[in-house]
Amino acid sequence: MNTGLQLYNTLTRKKEIFEPLNAPNVGIYVCGPTVYSDVHLGNCRTFLSFDLIFRYLKYSGYKVRYVRNITDAGHLEGDRDEGDDKFAKRAKLEQLEPMEIVQKYTLGFHDVMRVFNALPPSIEPTATGHISEQIEMIKEIINNGYAYETNGTVYFDVEKYSSEYNYTILTNRNLEDMLANTRELSGQDEKRGRLDFALWIKAKPETLMRWPSPWGIGFPGWHIECSAMSAKYLGDQFDIHGGGMDLAATHHTNEIAQSEACSHKQPAKYWMHTNMLTVNGSRMSKSLGNGFLPGELFTGDHPLLTKGFSPMTVKFFMFQAHYRSTLDFSNEALDASEKGFRKLMNAVNLLDKLNASETNDFDIDAITDKCVKAMNDDFNSPVVIAELFEAVRIINTVHDGKGSISAPELEKLKKLINDFVFDIFGLKDEDTSNLELNSVLDLVIDIRKAAKENKDYATSDKIRLGLQSMGIQLKDSKEGTTWSKA
Ligand code: AMP
Ligand code: ZN
Repeated sequence: MNTGLQLYNTLTRKKEIFEPLNAPNVGIYVCGPTVYSDVHLGNCRTFLSFDLIFRYLKYSGYKVRYVRNITDAGHLEGDRDEGDDKFAKRAKLEQLEPMEIVQKYTLGFHDVMRVFNALPPSIEPTATGHISEQIEMIKEIINNGYAYETNGTVYFDVEKYSSEYNYTILTNRNLEDMLANTRELSGQDEKRGRLDFALWIKAKPETLMRWPSPWGIGFPGWHIECSAMSAKYLGDQFDIHGGGMDLAATHHTNEIAQSEACSHKQPAKYWMHTNMLTVNGSRMSKSLGNGFLPGELFTGDHPLLTKGFSPMTVKFFMFQAHYRSTLDFSNEALDASEKGFRKLMNAVNLLDKLNASETNDFDIDAITDKCVKAMNDDFNSPVVIAELFEAVRIINTVHDGKGSISAPELEKLKKLINDFVFDIFGLKDEDTSNLELNSVLDLVIDIRKAAKENKDYATSDKIRLGLQSMGIQLKDSKEGTTWSKA
């Protein structure tokens, strides 16, 4: 097992040696998407960064339980218990049931993660599937004296909590300043303190997503779901809690407060936050409306794009920045990533064609060590990429007959590429995968042709409809059958 891993802990504001609570087991919780609309590329950056971390922890020999939730209830437009419910608003707009909205955008999110070749999490719990766990946790917080009910809504008592715990431990903000800067909001007369936030919110007559509770009909506040679900699947204390940096000040601050008020324990040993993907310097966000959808990027169908970029190009572009640095989105940067990724893949495709020699000019262990060292240094992917280009240089040198590599070193080179390019970065060669898809489809079309000739229409229809559900359309003509992506 890899014991040299260091990661930056937002809680302590420094890099720390990673020492899991219960090695070799590692528990990691990442706040997932709010599924009332499509995920944009900024959201994808956060989830792909944690995919890299998940993959590297597994590569390092840990047995990882990766929990990434789906927020499908309780998310009001404002951060502070104000505004409309995002799901209900969207449901009205699209003339759908709120759970149809949830289903539509959850499936869309899964499709995007698959296209980016991200591994599915070990558990993907939903807020609506864990209402009773959230109610139990709220009851416990009330029993412990850190929450109170007013008129069917339950508030967390920040003042009481902060007399015993450090409420701003994650961001190091000054509580007095926070109080001074907090606006008066509706519902303020129900709250004892200005910073108090809702754990359970009383339903209005028009509220669509509603559940019974000891405090009447209502719905959970946004923050409680993550405290309840992380405790359920990872325990009161687990190793890593992650999300985008924008979540630290409110959502994660409140999560820590809720969990401590319930179990008297700091829920996660390490808090990790990814930095933002920006467009012309401003954060890409759903509410600012400057979000690029992954589909727009792949097709190039967006006013700010000069052409489309493939999913692996985009992923490679993201990993060329460290997850804690901002990353600005531009055509030029993506163009450069496209060239870089192609150069890497062209070299990777030459690997099997290289001949080993009796003599050897290269030290592959040195490159592998540098890659491991970079990943151990808080998952420094840009440094790994620089090292991978050193491997590219070696492959091209050997291929051009300008250097020789021995059989054992060639095996090490193959392992280096396999481990870092495919297993840890989760990249894949898009051209090759298209070649594979072509051959598989040729075979399936042949089987369908044979079925039709045998008048086995049930099988031929099953193939056609099955492919259709995967987004592949078959077209029969006199010349034969062709396929296209729907
Ligand atoms: P949401 O669906 O809005 O709850 O966001 C899902 C995840 O994406 C959260 O972890 C956010 O912090 C993260 N996120 C939102 N905007 C960006 C961005 N521009 N860059 C990187 N991550 C983001
Ligand atoms: Zn969360």
